[in-house]
Amino acid sequence: MKLTETHHPAWRLLPELRELLFLARRAQGLARVETLARLECDGHHFPLLAFRFGPSDPTAPVLALFGGVHGLERIGTRVVTSYLQTVLSLARWDRSTQRLLEETRLLVVPLVNPVGMYWQRRSNGNFVDIMRNAPVEAEGVAGWQIFGGHRLSPRLPWYRGQEGAPLETETQAVCDLVRREVFPAKVALSIDVHSGYGKVDRLWFPYAKTKTPFASVPQAMALKHLLDKAYGNHIYRVEPQCREYLAHGDLWDYLYDDYRQRQPQGDYIPFTLEMGSWLWVKKNWRQLFSLPGIFNPRLPHRERRILRRHTPLLDLLLRAVQSPEPWTQLNHAKRQRLLRHGHDLWYGG
Ligand SMILES: [Zn+2]
Repeated sequence: MKLTETHHPAWRLLPELRELLFLARRAQGLARVETLARLECDGHHFPLLAFRFGPSDPTAPVLALFGGVHGLERIGTRVVTSYLQTVLSLARWDRSTQRLLEETRLLVVPLVNPVGMYWQRRSNGNFVDIMRNAPVEAEGVAGWQIFGGHRLSPRLPWYRGQEGAPLETETQAVCDLVRREVFPAKVALSIDVHSGYGKVDRLWFPYAKTKTPFASVPQAMALKHLLDKAYGNHIYRVEPQCREYLAHGDLWDYLYDDYRQRQPQGDYIPFTLEMGSWLWVKKNWRQLFSLPGIFNPRLPHRERRILRRHTPLLDLLLRAVQSPEPWTQLNHAKRQRLLRHGHDLWYGG
């Protein structure tokens, strides 16, 4: 189906979606654009769009980018869309980008939860938090810690959905895409862009469900070293999410474990970029009085700065799937060294 404005009247409602439909037209001949799901709300249809670059072979190395899982965090969608724009532009004329995309795949899903963004809320149309919706039970989340996910009421944020209910459409769409496009690959990375927690930009990896180290500590540490060496002044705090808080239903914990089951020899690390929005609030405290203001920069120059800020990271991850040897081909001694370093730095020795 051709993606035109007349097919998607929702384009009028969301500038982010309007931009994506515009880019879908620009992508012809460069990327395949797919509608993963059609979400209905308020008499409008919102498409959940995915852009796929590179070879169609699902075993080719892949980087997957996600944004807009939480409808309030518009800046996440904008960061991913801005990178999509860059790749679309470079793929037209830049030989090194063209060569990279001959052997490496790039998946881009900038707006996972368009209905949440339309309503300006964290959850989806059914008041379910997509990042608490996967069938994963965390260890040691106290009852009062509702931010870790709960089944008390859809009126409260961080609602997981009813016990035993099918996954939400958006959650299922992401799982289906990742299983189809990421699981067959022996080398894969993904990054899901969020905002709102803390003062620094955090680059999280699993687990969110437990403080027990995940199986890819050596690979995560090797990637951290690549980032530290290539961009010595980078701004990221690389750590497992459980260092900050534990949560039920984390989608990336769920998909990471599932990948490990199906592809035990493969390497896949799902990262989450949690942009620390408290700094933007500190610089402009009036933002505190509006909910979107807590999660997004309000001033245009500040937003532009954030859109520029993460390009080197996304570039590095794309290169890391194209040239994976330094973080995937680890001999025994090196693996042990990285493991020890990871345990010391992230898990208290
Ligand atoms: Zn979020």
